[in-house]
Amino acid sequence: MAYPTSANPLIYRVALPVPLYTLFDYLAPRTSPPCLPGCRIEVPFRYGTKTAFLVEIAQHSAIATDKLKPINRVIDEHPLLSAADLQLLLWVANYYHHPLGEVISSAFPVHLRQGKAATLPDEKGYQLTELGEHTSSEQLRRTPKQKSILELFQQHGQPLSESALTAWNSQWRTSVKTLLNKQLLALTTLKGVHSTLPVAESTRELPGNAHQQAAVAAVSQQLGQFGAYLLEGVTGSGKTEVYMQIIRSALAQNRQVLVLIPEISLTPQLEQRFRQRFSANIAVSHSKLTNPQRQTAWLQMQQGLCQIMLGTRSALFTPMQNLGLIILDEEHDSSYKQQEGFRFSARDAAIIRGKLLNIPVLLGSATPSLESFYNAQRGRYQWLPLPERAGDALAPQLQIIDIRNKPLQEGLSEALLKEINNTLAKQEQVLLFLNRRGFAPTLICHSCGWVAHCPSCDANLVIHAQQQQLQCHHCGKQQRLLQQCPACQHNALTALGLGTERVESLLEQRYAGYRIIRLDRDSTQRKGSLQKYLAQINLGQADIILGTQMLAKGHHFANVTLVAILDVDSGLFSIDFRSPEKLAQLIVQVAGRAGRAQKPGRVMLQTRHPEHPLLTTLIQADYHHFAQQALTERQQAGLPPYSHQALFRASATDAELATEFLDCVAQLARQPSNPANQILGPTPAPMKKRAGRYHQQLLLQCKHRKNLHKLLDTLMPAIAKLKTSAKVRWSLDVDPLDLY
Ligand code: ADP
Ligand code: ZN
Ligand code: ZN
Repeated sequence: MAYPTSANPLIYRVALPVPLYTLFDYLAPRTSPPCLPGCRIEVPFRYGTKTAFLVEIAQHSAIATDKLKPINRVIDEHPLLSAADLQLLLWVANYYHHPLGEVISSAFPVHLRQGKAATLPDEKGYQLTELGEHTSSEQLRRTPKQKSILELFQQHGQPLSESALTAWNSQWRTSVKTLLNKQLLALTTLKGVHSTLPVAESTRELPGNAHQQAAVAAVSQQLGQFGAYLLEGVTGSGKTEVYMQIIRSALAQNRQVLVLIPEISLTPQLEQRFRQRFSANIAVSHSKLTNPQRQTAWLQMQQGLCQIMLGTRSALFTPMQNLGLIILDEEHDSSYKQQEGFRFSARDAAIIRGKLLNIPVLLGSATPSLESFYNAQRGRYQWLPLPERAGDALAPQLQIIDIRNKPLQEGLSEALLKEINNTLAKQEQVLLFLNRRGFAPTLICHSCGWVAHCPSCDANLVIHAQQQQLQCHHCGKQQRLLQQCPACQHNALTALGLGTERVESLLEQRYAGYRIIRLDRDSTQRKGSLQKYLAQINLGQADIILGTQMLAKGHHFANVTLVAILDVDSGLFSIDFRSPEKLAQLIVQVAGRAGRAQKPGRVMLQTRHPEHPLLTTLIQADYHHFAQQALTERQQAGLPPYSHQALFRASATDAELATEFLDCVAQLARQPSNPANQILGPTPAPMKKRAGRYHQQLLLQCKHRKNLHKLLDTLMPAIAKLKTSAKVRWSLDVDPLDLY
């Protein structure tokens, strides 16, 4: 790179966190040597300043030099993003047609987006004094806690931060204070690495069964090259064990490892298993951390101070010095897709990151998405099956309860109640699944038929009896629960349908004396409450567990032997072509919670459609067969993964405007007329009115991915020029997961 002269100053082409698709040109300072792409720079923008990200350095600008503004200052001496990191962000911005500046900005922790210095905060810690170094821990044998802490410091040989001590054992404070008083330990300030800890206790690796060994070998032997792998293993088949053995190989080669999971609530479980297994520094990243905590984790990976990152979707873009392996657990989970703003799929972007870095990417699930299943079938992903439960755990038995013409008590059939009684009598746990929170989904007047409706949405208000409220689950509107019908003034309001609160109240009456835990968004709102309930369940302090969606997500309940899905039918008939896939995944995932230890589990499905092919396939065969059939149907219908979709959504307070805008988009899309491109719509969204706005959508579908993106490439700049585009809120969703 030539040093800037007055004749041709260097141009910094930067991305700014604004909803615009272009890069912005600024003049580089003449005095200092140019900084590298990936650095943050402060620039004047409109009437203020902004933190920008340097993407390219150019010799020339399309804009005359005297019109260009110089930058204010360079923030980072060394780039925080490597060339490969930047390349990944460019790729996803391009693929999802999202403004690059917003994409790059979203990869940074909040304070770094704002231009603050990229330094790790100091943390309080402790170190041995000279006396402490030379004191034998035997002298503390009467106070075992102090003894073990002294031994910890002596073995570790380094100062330890407060967070490291907390990760080691949350009860350290009193003993450390005593050791300070005895002058065996001294206070210190730690810079850089903290929240890391020494090996707690190393649980030994399990000798894998043949399938596990094959899976471990397949990936471990290919470290250092790109490969995508699909680990398909029923719940409890030992996928996590496989992950850990591959991680060990990667760590042995001094590579960093990124492990993605769908849910924050799953991090503590996995973190603990990792901490017991690896003497590596582990960083955790998810949305419930404070900004400084997230930044610390981010910088620790970026600087190579931590070797393992455990995180949710957004952790994917964390820069790393030496990333060598990506694992994505429960790859079918829809939370890997960001559903608003920058709508990206962490699963698909992980594959791209693996390709760019030339490292393996391992996707694991008991119920792989049809996309991944298809990729495995045509050899794009290497298929690694784990067909059996590990150890001697038995697979749960699926069984149908035909509830046609059967009396139900708050949704529970006699047959199921009998099973619950039997299970409780054996002192085993029961898990009931109902995917609807609240007391009942509808409040209706028995006298005149009036229904409580959300004024802002095409939806009924849901009864929440405990809070004595009516709530809209779509816009969040809340109002007091009515006692009297506002239409006819009669006291004839009745709750229609079933929610978890309602089933809970029945259970409380019928099973008085038993401990019932309800797990849904309402019951777990307070911080730490979900963890508390999960711990209670695992300590055997619960007899009946009732919950929503939350129960389908990877938690282990060793003493649950009866699982029941109260209302299978609500998922059987939906207009969404993905709903059979989602329902099958849900049934198998919920079923997987049963009988994980030595006790065999049973799974009961209450349905009015006992002959439904989805159910019979799952019962007589398994998810794998279901997926094969479902794929054939998708192929016949030309639906993804046999075609590729992009969805434009638009909304406005005026019902016509959104339609008008999408009509223009549809017209533009038809111009580069490729008869193979399907342009479907505009049509009203499945819920047309939401939060006071009218929603319309336009679906583009192409057989080949390339054609879809060619179309979008020409379409997006043209849409930006549409007059109507300023009057609506609109978005593009590439590879949409739902058409809502
Ligand atoms: P998954 O992640 O597929 O649900 P895990 O890895 O959590 O499965 O394993 C389920 C249980 O089986 C765990 O308690 C684990 O310790 C045990 N396990 C895993 N592999 C083996 C093995 N090869 N032999 C014995 N037990 C195993
Ligand atoms: Zn009425
Ligand atoms: Zn509403």
